[in-house]
Amino acid sequence: MSWGSGVLSLWIAKHVIAAIQRESEQIYPLETGGMLLGWRDGNSKIVTGFIGPGPSALHGRYMFLPDHRWQVEHLRHAFLASGGDLDYLGDWHTHPDGVAKMSDQDSQTLRKICRRVPHATMLIRAGHPSSWSMNAWIGERQRPFRPFVPQACRIQEFEAPEDWPRYQG
Ligand SMILES: [Zn+2]
Repeated sequence: MSWGSGVLSLWIAKHVIAAIQRESEQIYPLETGGMLLGWRDGNSKIVTGFIGPGPSALHGRYMFLPDHRWQVEHLRHAFLASGGDLDYLGDWHTHPDGVAKMSDQDSQTLRKICRRVPHATMLIRAGHPSSWSMNAWIGERQRPFRPFVPQACRIQEFEAPEDWPRYQG
């Protein structure tokens, strides 16, 4: 399989998309989200792991606060269980009845994440149960006196081979 080159691509395994869909629809019309796990390959990121919002997450109509402690615990477990193959790539969240675009708040959040994790990804799934759309961005590590401009990336779905590391938490 060729991961392509040049454009930033986010390859998301079908089972991860299904998990995001399940979570989104379960809690609709409230917001939810989680983490994307996988690895990098050149200009591509390959996502085969998924972490949900966590039991103590706060879901509002226009806000979402993950259960960070729970997520970090799962992330640690996924990383160790996969021998380091599955690492944190970024976050995903929903915009119920909204559009799949970065809000100013989203941009701020991604900028903060990129201080710890350069080139982190933010995936947004927007819409409602009969019509969802998905877009993703990658942030750069911020340089002084430069505006933070997340770059849109191309989302590609793929069927992950059975023997690839995967995670669902
Ligand atoms: Zn948002």
